[in-house]
Amino acid sequence: MEKTLTHSQIKQAVEEAYNECKNVTGGHNADYIPFLANVDPNLFGISLTLTDGTTFNIGDTDYKFGIESVSKVLTAILILKQHGADAVLKQIGADATGLPFNSIFAILLENDHPSTPLVNAGAITACSMVEPKGDSWGKWEAIINNIAALCGSEAQVLDELYRSESETNFNNRSIAWLLKNYNRIYDDVDMSLDLYTRQCSVGITSSQLAICAGTIANGGVNPVTKAEVFARELAPKITTLISSVGFYQNTGDWMYTSGIPAKSGVGGGVLGVYPGVMGVAAFAPPLDEAGNSVKAQAAVKAIMKKLDLGVFNGDNVTVVAD
Ligand code: GLU
Repeated sequence: MEKTLTHSQIKQAVEEAYNECKNVTGGHNADYIPFLANVDPNLFGISLTLTDGTTFNIGDTDYKFGIESVSKVLTAILILKQHGADAVLKQIGADATGLPFNSIFAILLENDHPSTPLVNAGAITACSMVEPKGDSWGKWEAIINNIAALCGSEAQVLDELYRSESETNFNNRSIAWLLKNYNRIYDDVDMSLDLYTRQCSVGITSSQLAICAGTIANGGVNPVTKAEVFARELAPKITTLISSVGFYQNTGDWMYTSGIPAKSGVGGGVLGVYPGVMGVAAFAPPLDEAGNSVKAQAAVKAIMKKLDLGVFNGDNVTVVAD
């Protein structure tokens, strides 16, 4: 069906979703990373960027929170750019694990394969694949510059979060060395793990994340800066990865109930991609038991429902200014 939405309808949906969800309770801040346990649990923001670059922000959309697992999407894009879709499939995979984000069991079950760049194992392998090989600083520059290009503005590591994660990432150290045992780390192990920890500690705003999501929705062209960040043919690859594992063991439930591929992070962020139409981001620290923000999930679902949107609805959606 042909479906037309106006800017003001979308703005209104964002505002109503914010007002309806701001008092949603439930969940707890991530506490296995001490820094995250102390973030104000009442912070809440929603941002939405259309593929024409129009952006709507409401709430704490300038607050820099830990990007955490949402960073996996951005670095997956970088290695897709650097190595191509076939190499990423071969060297990491594109399968859902059905298990928590930090599962060691998933690596064993997949017969040594890290499954997907969007779980901890595959994301550490992804960092090992970033070029230039062997050059920790050069690799970091590539990662942070890619984040800036996707988000349309620079982002920095939150030093205190980076320290907090580095001091407590024992499970991820096990994952990295287990992957090394299976020849799935393609550079120095400690360097790859450190790059992963650093990228998770980047401070990001929901407004930046919505622009990043909008860039994916817009086939690789940043809708705000108009720069081509990645080739159009990679956009469906990245959206497929997000659709299959963006909410870890709850991904099927999420897709079934929300209608939009999205990726969450334990910092409380959610990034959703509606191809050809918009990117949406929401942020609120308290998480459900799978590590997904309770309020951000509610907000994104509310927007989709109010606009009667769903990527599998079969609608041809056009957005017009009014
Ligand atoms: N840095 C976190 C970790 O490795 C990211 C997890 C997440 O956001 O799901 O545990």
